[in-house]
Amino acid sequence: MMEYNMSYLYASFFYLLLVLYHFWGQKKLDDLKSRMFLSFVMTGLLDLVFDIICTGIMSGGVNVSVWTAKMCFTFFYVLQALIPFFLYYYARTLREDRENRGVPLFGWYTAILCGMLILIVLNYWGGYFFTFNLSGVYSDGPLYMGMYLYAGVYVLLTAIDSIIHYRQLGKQKFSVICELLAIMGICVAWQYAVDDSLTTGLGIGLGMTVLYLNIGNPNRYIDSTTDVFDNRYFREWVQSRLRREKEFHVVAVEMHRLKVINKIFGSSFGDRVLSHIAGKMQEISGNYQVFRLNGKRMMIVTDSLVEYDRVRKEVLQYFKQELEIEGEKISFPVSVCGIPHACERKECDELIGYMDYLISLSAEKGRTTFIQGDWQTLQNFWYTKEIEQYLTIAVKNDLFEVYYQPIYSIKEKRFVALEALSRLRHPTLGPVSPEMFIQIAEKNGLILQIGSLQFGKVCRFVKEHPELMTMIRNVKFNTSPAEILQEGYGRKVLENIEACHLPASFFQMEITETIATEYSENVYRIADELVEAGVELCLDDFGSGYANLNTVLRLPFTEIKLDRSLLNGIPGSDHMADFYRSIVNVLKNMGYKTVAEGVETENELQLVSQWGVNYIQGYYFSKPLPENEILEFLRENLARALEDWKDEKENDCDL
Ligand code: C2E
Ligand code: CA
Ligand code: CA
Repeated sequence: MMEYNMSYLYASFFYLLLVLYHFWGQKKLDDLKSRMFLSFVMTGLLDLVFDIICTGIMSGGVNVSVWTAKMCFTFFYVLQALIPFFLYYYARTLREDRENRGVPLFGWYTAILCGMLILIVLNYWGGYFFTFNLSGVYSDGPLYMGMYLYAGVYVLLTAIDSIIHYRQLGKQKFSVICELLAIMGICVAWQYAVDDSLTTGLGIGLGMTVLYLNIGNPNRYIDSTTDVFDNRYFREWVQSRLRREKEFHVVAVEMHRLKVINKIFGSSFGDRVLSHIAGKMQEISGNYQVFRLNGKRMMIVTDSLVEYDRVRKEVLQYFKQELEIEGEKISFPVSVCGIPHACERKECDELIGYMDYLISLSAEKGRTTFIQGDWQTLQNFWYTKEIEQYLTIAVKNDLFEVYYQPIYSIKEKRFVALEALSRLRHPTLGPVSPEMFIQIAEKNGLILQIGSLQFGKVCRFVKEHPELMTMIRNVKFNTSPAEILQEGYGRKVLENIEACHLPASFFQMEITETIATEYSENVYRIADELVEAGVELCLDDFGSGYANLNTVLRLPFTEIKLDRSLLNGIPGSDHMADFYRSIVNVLKNMGYKTVAEGVETENELQLVSQWGVNYIQGYYFSKPLPENEILEFLRENLARALEDWKDEKENDCDL
């Protein structure tokens, strides 16, 4: 009987046991990779146990019946057949994960395993790999080497597959697979070359350790500040859930106030606040997973609607009170967003996008708010998405139009200006509200291109119809914060005007209250440049926000537009009427011309006229019109004004 050195086997067994112990003791990951890793380790452990038993039988240390010996060896061979297959399959799950599809357990690659398993079972009668004589003595079968060949096939397949899909695997996973193959290869070769050494088991033990340290360790996915799962794991977890069509519901918390806390108390206190909140979230979640998606968003996912409801209520209740951290009481309002049936989203990015959308709807209001995704919010989200995509096409192909709304002078009894307003029509969804597409364009940076395209059109329109300059005094155009912040914006505007050989004084730039307040330094610079060249400035949406008048009015405005919201409040409120009248008065005394925006009815017209407003813009006179219609509109009005003027003259003569 041969003497074997079993120390490697024992050592590997304890090695794997340790890996399993650590894996088990950590947060449980719920994904295909982790399940595969666990099966891999368990198979490895069992393999080592049977390796030890079988070696004991071979060396005569363990005395069992021939039937038991045969059974043990058969089982050992089955495990030996499973390990190379697992290696190949595991390597595939690593790459397929990225493609966000599952790896079917049964494929052509399983056929090799099945063939081998059949041979191992038939070995009981055929003795291909091993036999036992009647007195229970072991001997190798004629296909004994076939087992090495079989393992070699899977090793080769794994290597080829990993090289072909290097890009999907990524450098790190690819090098881990290479390391794994090298370790196992060397250990198998060692056992083959050195008679009494049993290093195959060592290969398994070392290989699993490498895997654990690099890929299988759940700690890799844990956020160090909060001790909850991180964004990477969230993505993998969601993809795996979506793939398996398993139900889940999300409660997300957006911590807007974190930035302020970091500023006031320092970032290390901010970290402790986060860690405290994460602890509470873990407590509320119970057995469910808690994730930190980014700097200021955490979430809990639940399996059932009942649990979702409980978590939602407890989270809301927690954030409605002041937080007590290290003796400090801090008010920490958050936006809580609930997405029931999150599993109905198709992709992780779609789910995150929807979450972003919902959270953007419940902007910080100084108190904890809750918004829950429903059918309507989902439709709106899709609509926004669709418009977002279409906007890129629209910019590329310049599908925007400019409409013009006339502005009426009460004193001159005629239209004296136009406001240029952008229009966009979606082929299937119809006209898109400019407020919406401008907001999206501001977010994704397309506003600069849109602004430039539109202003170019305005200049061309005026150039092609010089009569405009005889009919009206100026054309007003709108600006967004991103445009004002753009280096050289003033120069670009002037270049556009000059390219069409038009006088700068024929244009008036509208700046909103918010721009004037928040971006004052840049606005001052650009305003000076434009005003010097002759472009006038108009303050838009006055009264819609909480602008600091002192800052705003330091800019050289000639006109101030009173926001429609001020007019809306007038019916039924004497207070609002007094307010409107007083503002007009104050602005007038300060030397500004005023425009009443959004005048829709005769009554509104009468009121604002009485209060001394200079100009009127609103549906009462006309909605914004396309180029040809506005030209027609102005011509007709000019003709009518001339008629009236003639009539008046005649009347004067008659008198
Ligand atoms: P805004 O600058 O305050 O433009 C006035 C808005 O009020 C226009 O909406 C106009 O159609 C609407 N309006 C005018 N009279 C009435 C009325 O009597 N009743 C009501 N209910 N509304 C009236 P529009 O065209 O939908 O534009 C919305 C906003 O989109 C604009 O508000 C402006 O902030 C922005 N916008 C439009 N075009 C552009 C652009 O080319 N560039 C930039 N940066 N912003 C633009
Ligand atoms: Ca405007
Ligand atoms: Ca306005």
